[in-house]
Amino acid sequence: MERLKVVIRGAVQGVGFRPFVYRLATESGLPGWVLNSSQGVFIEVEGERPALEEFLLRLEQEKPPRAIVQSLEFSFLDPVGYPEFVIRHSEEAGEKTVLILPDIATCPQCLREVGDPSDRRHRYPFTNCTHCGPRFTIIRALPYDRPNTSMAHFPLCPDCQREYEEPLDRRFHAQPVACPICGPQVALYSGDGHFQSARHLTGDEAVRQAAQAVREGRILAMKGLGGFLLIVDARDEATVQRLRGRKHREEKPLALLYPSLKMIKGHCFVSPLEERVLTSPESPIVLLRRRGPRTPPPDRGGLGGGEVCESVAPGNPYLGVMLPYTPLHDLLMQDLGFPVVATSGNRSDEPICIDEDEARQRLGDIADLFLIHNRPIARHCDDSIVRVVLGQELVLRRARGYAPLPVLLKHEIPPILAVGAHLKNAIALSVGRQVFVSQHIGDLDTPEACAAFERVIADFLRLYEVQPVAIAHDLHPDYFSTQYAKSQTCPELGRRIANRKSQIAVQHHHAHLASCLAENEVEGPALGVIWDGTGYGPDGTVWGGEFLWGDAAGFERVAHLRTFRLPGGEAAVKEPRRTALGVLWEHFGPQALEWDDLAPVAAFSPQERRLLRQMLERGVNSPVTSSAGRLFDAVAALVGLRQEARFEAQAAMMLEFAVDEAVTDAYPLPMTQYPIPNTQSLVLDWVPLLEALLTDLRRGVPVGVMAARFHNALVEGMVAVAQAVGAERVALSGGCFQNRILLERAYRRLTEAGLRVYVHQRIPPNDGGIALGQVAVAAQKLSE
Ligand SMILES: [Zn+2]
Ligand SMILES: [Zn+2]
Repeated sequence: MERLKVVIRGAVQGVGFRPFVYRLATESGLPGWVLNSSQGVFIEVEGERPALEEFLLRLEQEKPPRAIVQSLEFSFLDPVGYPEFVIRHSEEAGEKTVLILPDIATCPQCLREVGDPSDRRHRYPFTNCTHCGPRFTIIRALPYDRPNTSMAHFPLCPDCQREYEEPLDRRFHAQPVACPICGPQVALYSGDGHFQSARHLTGDEAVRQAAQAVREGRILAMKGLGGFLLIVDARDEATVQRLRGRKHREEKPLALLYPSLKMIKGHCFVSPLEERVLTSPESPIVLLRRRGPRTPPPDRGGLGGGEVCESVAPGNPYLGVMLPYTPLHDLLMQDLGFPVVATSGNRSDEPICIDEDEARQRLGDIADLFLIHNRPIARHCDDSIVRVVLGQELVLRRARGYAPLPVLLKHEIPPILAVGAHLKNAIALSVGRQVFVSQHIGDLDTPEACAAFERVIADFLRLYEVQPVAIAHDLHPDYFSTQYAKSQTCPELGRRIANRKSQIAVQHHHAHLASCLAENEVEGPALGVIWDGTGYGPDGTVWGGEFLWGDAAGFERVAHLRTFRLPGGEAAVKEPRRTALGVLWEHFGPQALEWDDLAPVAAFSPQERRLLRQMLERGVNSPVTSSAGRLFDAVAALVGLRQEARFEAQAAMMLEFAVDEAVTDAYPLPMTQYPIPNTQSLVLDWVPLLEALLTDLRRGVPVGVMAARFHNALVEGMVAVAQAVGAERVALSGGCFQNRILLERAYRRLTEAGLRVYVHQRIPPNDGGIALGQVAVAAQKLSE
């Protein structure tokens, strides 16, 4: 007789792990106990050695599907004589390293119950069980028990209480368990009334009338899982335009919610991997290539639903598509039977609204109706966005379904808070070996976004109860996140972290490199090809087309794209035509500003050109940049695709979409030595590329061919630099690697050249992944 002690760390709370262990132990006739503590799941069982070994194996093999075991330690000890197997109560004390699970999409069993007229949860929008339902968005504190969630003020009815207490029930210890008798309720209000007013509908009638309103072309604000969604009929051009007008979102693609996978397949191409992601517990928005008129689905009959109108994603061959992930979403969509736009409930790029009062204020003049409910949302969480590239998942926006699962480091590091960059902000907090990357917060351009940023930091510090010894931030002095890191007293800590030694500035592209290496568990140096829009360089120029050799411990800028001026600075980001002029100026000088046959030149009046010329001549408000993202903009403007961008990276995206994939030749992009003395940096000189492009342009070569030759040139440039510096491992990071053509072709060509290539998977290649890299770099600094 021996005692087996097991400590499991990972996402094992709220997934039915304790009931699973209870069943396994009782079945095997092993007495002992299981305990959820803030440090993990502890199990002790007593029995003969073979029975204990089998228990150990089955624990791994038969664990509930959502249980993510990150560490399993065990030891055999002397028995103490337990009489039976029991579930011990959660401990409040101790270091809070337990994972908080993300929200989990409705499981098939719950969906069946919701659809079954004889079930007591028939058409109940908040049905859930230990396999599914809200987690991250209802948890207020650890450990994960009902009183610590926003379900605390819904006392269980006798039926739910029975299910909650019955070890063999699917709802045994399901903290958010609810039913129509005891759980949260929906209510439908018109946009002009007040939520206190008497005129509203509740229950099933509210859902049915909400659906009817959407069918009639009205804009519905629906309180979902991690915030409000704005919902309109995606087939109706006028309605979608009205939503865009009210939301001040001109052309940026809108996400779609579909009633069924079958209908998605009727509108888009869906690979088996894409189908898996669409129907996964994470249930993100998946970017899918839409079917054109020439590529109808194989079985056109009976698909129904109608076509999605053009203004959902103007000029975009992809649609961002998801399936219902709560019973509420599902009920609405089954009633409707056609795709709807389901976009974050916010104005422009502000954070998503999470409570009724906020929604009333901020969405009052956008939405016609409000479908709300009385289960509070503990924290905001947008829908995640995933693209399948290279036969694997690439998370572009990490939020619902993924946050706040940690990235596990190889070694324990001190607690570090990383505040990210400026665009697509997310923060990160390290605890032991775990780095908790927050849900997507957004661009820190508005007071609302900055408030959300501070709220998420306070939230993470409180939830995980750690005292960071350092705060890592971007090198850019003007970012709100940098200023926060440098000035902020942190009330959650009760002491000032703004101690100079504990503030660690991390260069933007170095953070990207470290993030990619950390996610892929790579140690030791690699060549980082770090391409994005804008990042503050230590030399005072704007970086963005970088080749950095190094790892978290440090880096050397071994190569970069040739620099050019951005006339108007930030204004150039919104006007690719300005960037095009900067690029032309760099090589051709003032004469290029007279070339009216070029679209970006023609897009300026003679007076505007004079002003731009003065700016460029004097170098006033015209920062020097090596940005790859801006080079994409310039080329998109030159080939006539886009002179002004309506949203970030629009021009670059259009250039990607334009590529004729059959074209394999490339423009020349030679490597030269940097003209500045005392540096060994190599430079990829795009001047020959520009000359060849202009020749093609004037010959009337199709845009798709030019776009392909440009992409191919960049890829060959990467291979040339990698070979010149003798790299064996290459990490691809930065927003440019959201571009499928660039990522796939770079991966293929670098691999063919004998290099090991690392790309992002669970952490975004864009600035949403910066905070992870900042943690890794800061940890290195602290260890020195
Ligand atoms: Zn379920
Ligand atoms: Zn109940």
